[in-house]
Amino acid sequence: MILYDYRCEGDHRFEAAVASMSSPAPDCPDCGSSARRVLTTVRTSGFASAGHSREDMPKSWKGMGNGNRDAVDYWRRSMEKRERLEERHPELGGDRRPILAHEGIFRDRPLRAGDDIGASVQAAVTAEKAKEAAKPATATLAGGGGPPSSGPSVTATGSSTTAGGAAKR
Ligand SMILES: [Zn+2]
Repeated sequence: MILYDYRCEGDHRFEAAVASMSSPAPDCPDCGSSARRVLTTVRTSGFASAGHSREDMPKSWKGMGNGNRDAVDYWRRSMEKRERLEERHPELGGDRRPILAHEGIFRDRPLRAGDDIGASVQAAVTAEKAKEAAKPATATLAGGGGPPSSGPSVTATGSSTTAGGAAKR
């Protein structure tokens, strides 16, 4: 297999592995339109690259070139390669632990399974306070009477109870 760069009619660039130089160009995995090989770059497979992330994976049938065998093959290989890479380099996979809470004080820093709850609450509350302190005076006044800002402070109070509970473990 040889990896080539392709560019489609919609100007998407993508890579695809084909059997030989004379293989027909696969359709664009993004929009399904026909593509041409970009002649400047030719590489053999096995080159060092992090490749596509999981987010790059087409989410639709059309994205898979309407089931075009080359496109499906290409993405399957690409994701297998990525999985092997992530096994060796877990940091590339990002944090995939389940998110337990992502509202209120955890809006910007989700609580994930395995996190130290006490420390996470502490960090979230501290960040929330820092954000409040950083707000311009006018914004504090404007937001002071509204429900949106009273919400988080109620949550914060409830969560510090949680922090106390976690400390008892
Ligand atoms: Zn395209």
